[in-house]
Amino acid sequence: MTERIQDFLRQRRLEGRDDGPCLVLDLDVVRDNYAAFATALPDTRVFYAVKANPAPEVLSLLAKLGSCFDAASVVEIEQVLAAGATPDRISFGNTIKKERDVARAYALGIRLFAVDCEAEVEKIARAAPGSRVFCRILCDGAGAEWPLSRKFGCVPEMAPRVLELAHRLGLTAYGISFHVGSQQRNPRMWDGALKSSADIFRDLAERGIHLSMVNLGGGFPTKYLKDVPAVKAYGQSIFRSLRKHFGNKIPETIIEPGRGMVGSAGIIEAEVVLISRKSEQDTVKWVYLDIGKFNGLAETMDEMIRYPIRTEFDEDDKELCIVAGPTCDSVDVLYEKDPYPLPVSLEIGAKVLFEGTGAYTTTYSAVGFNGFPPLKSYVI
Ligand SMILES: *Cc1c(COP(=O)(O)O)cnc(C)c1O
Repeated sequence: MTERIQDFLRQRRLEGRDDGPCLVLDLDVVRDNYAAFATALPDTRVFYAVKANPAPEVLSLLAKLGSCFDAASVVEIEQVLAAGATPDRISFGNTIKKERDVARAYALGIRLFAVDCEAEVEKIARAAPGSRVFCRILCDGAGAEWPLSRKFGCVPEMAPRVLELAHRLGLTAYGISFHVGSQQRNPRMWDGALKSSADIFRDLAERGIHLSMVNLGGGFPTKYLKDVPAVKAYGQSIFRSLRKHFGNKIPETIIEPGRGMVGSAGIIEAEVVLISRKSEQDTVKWVYLDIGKFNGLAETMDEMIRYPIRTEFDEDDKELCIVAGPTCDSVDVLYEKDPYPLPVSLEIGAKVLFEGTGAYTTTYSAVGFNGFPPLKSYVI
């Protein structure tokens, strides 16, 4: 919680504008996070993953600081261009694109695309001739709190064929990408994918195709309840793996931090709507808030992300509570399998603060499910 956010929330309350939950994002923290990445990985270019938080203020700050951008759709590309970044600083990093969207991105000046199969290479060869492509390889996401499963990437053994086809069709076979899973708490998890990348570089070099770049993806964590290593530890571990697998021919590298760039910059303020028990004997209380899975806290799905929750009663004794959202959908429960310790003295109407909510909250908020408006956002 920064002082600027505290002042903002106090002012909002004084003016009686505290009607419904809101996210407050402090740009000073984003600036610090960008600097930490640039220091920890000095030879690596930063491509901010726009989906984590596409607020125009965030995009224009990062554009000014010199960041590049990882966009997943034409709309995200347009948002980044509107924020003042030139198209050579944007990668179309989604491996699943309509051919007409590839063509629109090409018309907007985008020349860097992700692929993970031959059919996608063919689309890009037709709709974005001469562009650079990188091939995403699968990563099992072990050690990540929000693993990205098998949806993106091909097995490493397939990547040389995909990139060889790109080369044959007149594209530049540019490199390899992977994502070790979001909220990756183990800095050593990049090692396996870097070994696979080096194997692919060698394999293709033998066929006369020389790759240039490894895209190290995102995965850099935000501190929630559990401690996480500092960005510096990630930088050191990644550099050691690059040395180990590429020797003295370290390729150009890029990272795509989303959560690690904006997560810690945001606080959500919400309100207790109801506290109740289901029977006289019930040992756990139900605490219902005005925020839930559909208006900002989707990442509590399967209770994967456990946010720190602060209240003004935190000095008091705590008891385990089931925490739920306000909508009439029974999946709108945040923490039940693993109930959350909240102060015994917590009252209906009290404010609660969710820390580390700058990433994947506004963007996951529904447009008014059950009449609850999307999460309000203030960037300060
Ligand atoms: C979502 C995404 C990211 C950002 O991941 P974080 O774990 O939030 O840093 C990076 N790259 C790609 C391709 C993504 O889809």
